[in-house]
Amino acid sequence: MLDAKTLYIDGAWRASSSGATFTVTDPSDGSALATAADGTAEDASAAIAAAGAAQPAWGATSIAHRAQVLRGLHAAVIAHTEELAELIAAESGKPVSEAIGEIGYGAQFISWFADQATQAFHGEHYTDPAGTTRILTSRRPVGPCLLITPWNFPLAMVTRKLAPALAAGCTSVLKPAEQTPLTAIRLIELLNEQDVPPGVVNVVTTTQAREVSAAVFASPALRKVSFTGSTAIGGELLRNSSHRVVSTSMELGGNAPFLVFDDAAPDVVDGAIVAKLRNGGQSCIAANRFLVHDIVADEFTEKLVGAFSRMRVGTGRAVGTDVGPLIDSRAVEKVSAMVEQAVDAGARVAYRAEVPAGQGSFYPPTVLIDAPLNSPVYRDEVFGPVATVTRFTDEHHAVELANDTQAGLAAYVFSADLSRALRVAAALDFGIVGVNRGFVSTAAAPFGGTKTSGLGREGGLHGLEEYLETQYLSLPVDSPIV
Ligand code: NAP
Repeated sequence: MLDAKTLYIDGAWRASSSGATFTVTDPSDGSALATAADGTAEDASAAIAAAGAAQPAWGATSIAHRAQVLRGLHAAVIAHTEELAELIAAESGKPVSEAIGEIGYGAQFISWFADQATQAFHGEHYTDPAGTTRILTSRRPVGPCLLITPWNFPLAMVTRKLAPALAAGCTSVLKPAEQTPLTAIRLIELLNEQDVPPGVVNVVTTTQAREVSAAVFASPALRKVSFTGSTAIGGELLRNSSHRVVSTSMELGGNAPFLVFDDAAPDVVDGAIVAKLRNGGQSCIAANRFLVHDIVADEFTEKLVGAFSRMRVGTGRAVGTDVGPLIDSRAVEKVSAMVEQAVDAGARVAYRAEVPAGQGSFYPPTVLIDAPLNSPVYRDEVFGPVATVTRFTDEHHAVELANDTQAGLAAYVFSADLSRALRVAAALDFGIVGVNRGFVSTAAAPFGGTKTSGLGREGGLHGLEEYLETQYLSLPVDSPIV
């Protein structure tokens, strides 16, 4: 890793074909962590060629064998929790305690899909209504995949794709985020200990995401792209997928409303903190807009400010940190501009924390009241530790405000009246709704959004489907085989 051979292609670690490298830094202090190979289009072509060549043999391995590989990987990830947590905290800036939580979550996908692999390949056998055709269906891997992941969960976003791809019998080219390639590389090293044949998994670290993905799309071997990231890039990849009708799964941006009704339990603030400040607000399911019943809005805001003020802001690797830095200085500029624009337009600052001095890309946890509904901090995904509190008058108003967005990933509803909470949840146009809880992530659940938040689901009973095709065999009804 230190000699910049971070491309893993056809079973070998390589340097970039151009010889170029890039530096991976710690956002807590800007220090250099490692040098990675800056993969090129040529490297990407070699990676997808290797994936294409490995596909027939990997797709023909037994389900039991693939499940065993995944179980071995799961054990290795758990055994290396401490080391992986240090790596995640260093390259993403998130607190070590959260990194440990991410490893548990990321490992869940590996064991979940090991189990799913043994369940999801069942085909069907039936006769058509006219009684002339015997229909047999079977499941098969969709084929070589391009897996593109973001920096906010450097392990879990990879395992959420790679584990079902491996379980289904698909080979892949993984392109981790430029800011956080080190965790992905370590994961692949652990996977290699499970004796996976060359070409089954290939990794291209790069700063040239567009060129690298274009080279993969140019190959007729590619059959699937699974992407987690921004809606804008997701749209670009959907357009690229259309040329060769490549299958797509898209996990894109959110703008989660967090609804607090007048009878919400006092621990609503605990849920609010988890939903807002996990990973410093840099989560696609982060609560983006607190929508609070008028009667309890002042009390809720006061408690939220109290909870924000107890958060310790610091470097990811320091013991006791609750909120780390943002991923880079561009993210700080973006969040600062959003807050300034809202304040200029009349929003009031109820709280703003202090941040550590120095080179780190910190943004102070901030609570805003009455941000105008057309301000970017309310309308767009903040991806930072900024909470806006907006009042609603009744249930209808709450649902109207919540649904007034093109994003449809996650929403949260807090009310002691479960009938109301479920009625409101049903009216929300979102793929995920947390009812009286601010934490919704588990490998066992189908994760994904509506509208511009994406296509398809990851995890749950649906996650493996994304990597499978169905073949139908048509037989004469009197065929002797059954
Ligand atoms: P991003 O800029 O879209 O990047 C995500 C990944 O796409 C990175 O690996 C990036 O590579 C790559 N990429 C960038 N431009 C590309 C291109 N033209 N062609 C191919 N790949 C390209 O997103 P981000 O800012 O890292 O991540 C934050 C976004 O992800 C937020 O909107 C968040 O909501 C969303 N997200 C969604 C989910 C979900 O499950 N729905 C989960 C996590 C995050 P580089 O790193 O080299 O730029």
